Amino acid sequence: MGVCALLRDKFPAIGMERNFSLSHHTTIGCGGSVACSVSPSDAEEAAALCAFLGKRRISHAFLGVGANTLPQDGEMDAVLVRSDLLKGLVFDGNALFAGAGVTGGALLKFAADHGLGGFEPFAGIPMSVGGACVMNAGVRERHISDVVLRVLAVSGGRIMSFSPASCRFGEKMSVFQEGIFVVGALFRAEHSPKEKILGRTADFLARRAALPKGRSMGCTFVNPEGESAGEIIDRCGLKGLSVGGAHVSRIHANFIINEGGTSADVSRLIEIVKEEVLSKTGILLREEIRRLTLQGT
Ligand SMILES: Cc1cc2nc3c(=O)[nH]c(=O)nc-3n(C[C@H](O)[C@H](O)[C@H](O)COP(=O)(O)OP(=O)(O)OC[C@H]3O[C@@H](n4cnc5c(N)ncnc54)[C@H](O)[C@@H]3O)c2cc1C
Repeated sequence: MGVCALLRDKFPAIGMERNFSLSHHTTIGCGGSVACSVSPSDAEEAAALCAFLGKRRISHAFLGVGANTLPQDGEMDAVLVRSDLLKGLVFDGNALFAGAGVTGGALLKFAADHGLGGFEPFAGIPMSVGGACVMNAGVRERHISDVVLRVLAVSGGRIMSFSPASCRFGEKMSVFQEGIFVVGALFRAEHSPKEKILGRTADFLARRAALPKGRSMGCTFVNPEGESAGEIIDRCGLKGLSVGGAHVSRIHANFIINEGGTSADVSRLIEIVKEEVLSKTGILLREEIRRLTLQGT
């Protein structure tokens, strides 16, 4: 029995999409397909699913809105677990709970409608709440780690509540990068007038207007301590460098833009940039983007 049939048999009601296209579900717009994607609708279903995939040793990975993900080319006999049905948003008077599949835009709108400030710096970041917790997304002023009270996640097939310390947040990292599926997060909420929230949101959005357009994963590399990866790449003369359909943006050298290229093109370009930067400056750039690593067929 194939993986999709196996999952359909075990989870008859689960949201499933066969032949799931990676290029259609990632902002970089390249990559092949996986046998199926499955979308649990609550924490219990996510736990049962992850336990089953682990026990059967079925190759799988997790996906939010795919804004920081470099998929693989080819067809993978594997499963993608998505958060897109985990869309709950609740404010209990003290804290705001958002399901992992809530997008940044929906989170900001809900917060503004309820007069809850503090999320404005995330305006315009393409993200799901789950992906943002995994990546500790944010901008200079504020990261997810600054607003998280608890993260609800599935680890080893069990539902667990992580304190901020146990999330082990760092620069573009967290404990959730170790095969733990985020189900949702509880956020600190600061009461604030809606007009003020909307004004600050507009300011943060305006700051992003200068970012490169086109298909990308945002910043490719983490900024080395006290430096800008984009400026380092620029100083090495790599703006505009291309492999196949992928090139280093001329506007912001930490962005790789894909115009019809393959994942192999993007991957090779990343390697070349790293090699050139290392040989010219001695700096080894750390990748911010996350690669989907699944078994091929
Ligand atoms: C144009 C552009 C601008 C950007 N600007 C910024 C910025 O200003 N600041 C910033 O921090 N980032 C930025 N990014 C990167 C990206 O928006 C963030 O990293 C965001 O948090 C990714 O969320 P996502 O849902 O797309 O994650 P995905 O790309 O779907 O996933 C990222 C990683 O998390 C894993 N994952 C996703 N969901 C879950 C889950 N529920 N449980 C466990 N693992 C999961 C995936 O397997 C993958 O390893 C930008 C990207 C783009 C394309």
